Amino acid sequence: MSGSRIYMDWNATAPLLTEAREACLSALDLVGNPSSVHGEGRALRTLIENARRDVAALCGAKAASVIFTSGATEAANLVLTPDFRMGRTPLKIGRLYASAIEHPAVREGGRFSHDAVCEIPVTPAGIVDLQALRELLTAHDRQLGLPMVAVMLVNNETGIIQPIAEIAEIVRANGGILVVDAVQAAGRLPLAIEELGADFLILSSHKIGGPKGAGALVARGEVMMPAPLIRGGGQEKGHRSGTENSVAIAGFAAAARKVGEGVGQRMSMIAALRDKLENAMLAAAADVVIHGRDVSRVGNTTFFTLPGLKAETGQIAFDLEGVALSAGSACSSGKVGQSHVLTAMGYDPRQGALRISIGELTTAAEIERCAAAFAKVAARRRAPGRAA
Ligand code: PLP
Repeated sequence: MSGSRIYMDWNATAPLLTEAREACLSALDLVGNPSSVHGEGRALRTLIENARRDVAALCGAKAASVIFTSGATEAANLVLTPDFRMGRTPLKIGRLYASAIEHPAVREGGRFSHDAVCEIPVTPAGIVDLQALRELLTAHDRQLGLPMVAVMLVNNETGIIQPIAEIAEIVRANGGILVVDAVQAAGRLPLAIEELGADFLILSSHKIGGPKGAGALVARGEVMMPAPLIRGGGQEKGHRSGTENSVAIAGFAAAARKVGEGVGQRMSMIAALRDKLENAMLAAAADVVIHGRDVSRVGNTTFFTLPGLKAETGQIAFDLEGVALSAGSACSSGKVGQSHVLTAMGYDPRQGALRISIGELTTAAEIERCAAAFAKVAARRRAPGRAA
């Protein structure tokens, strides 16, 4: 980490891994177009096909089922569409049922019209309400087309893990298609598309230590596929035209190889640091609310509310202490909006919450400095209920 600053915003973007950086640099010097038949072109084609195998291996999929995109947002817009094909036969999707805590990349509904998108509520614990999902799918009008369900595996704000295998059973029993945003799960949980029961997974390079500007839509099979979002020269078997971003794809694959190794061991070390930080936070401010602490979470995330401290004020206060964290998810304007995740969990979102997200480069010394910054910020806040 540079200088004396502490980077604790890994869920926004993970630092570029050395392996990914090296892979990007060597891909930059390859001159061909991967669609060209000459030796230069074939070298790029080999790079991309090897990368496809690496990304497939990260989620237990077949290489042929990986479609490279410019990121998770594009992958979501590719798959969230009423227009599918089953082989050569058109297949209509009638409605999208998306959980209330999805990232905007999914929540916006892709190519579905807004009135064809329906929200699946979550419980106060931040878990998709399975009974509500059953009821929504039972009431689904199949004459409109098949139901599509989108639920993320790990929430980017809270780190809460969703019961995807159970959700998949419900979706299957109702003849639906399941799309799982695995952006925050990749490299943090072992991923296996078959075991999850997902029909499609969405991945992003920059969340796993690869460069920004690459991602993938991973399908369970190859037969049922969405209509292309970008048409043109037919790259990616016609699913995503445009000359492949070989530099970003090479970095993405290098990151996928790296984070796919020893997930359990790496995450238990990270979780131990996170738990140490949470204990120090509770010792410094007994009234701190740590969202999702009682349910299954990934080990790198802490999402908390300090009564009497507004999220945007807290974010600046931590920044001044040299700690980069975020108030919920980063939005393009840099503004702190109210968290739709807290709202969905039934928590008053006005005060907001702060997110600390760490990774394998985080050190015990940084955790101590972050805990000290937290104690300072907590001590300085206006006492809850006291007038300004
Ligand atoms: N899904 C989740 C859960 C995310 O956290 C993000 C990024 O914040 C995205 C999707 C969008 O990813 P990308 O930046 O690759 O478009």
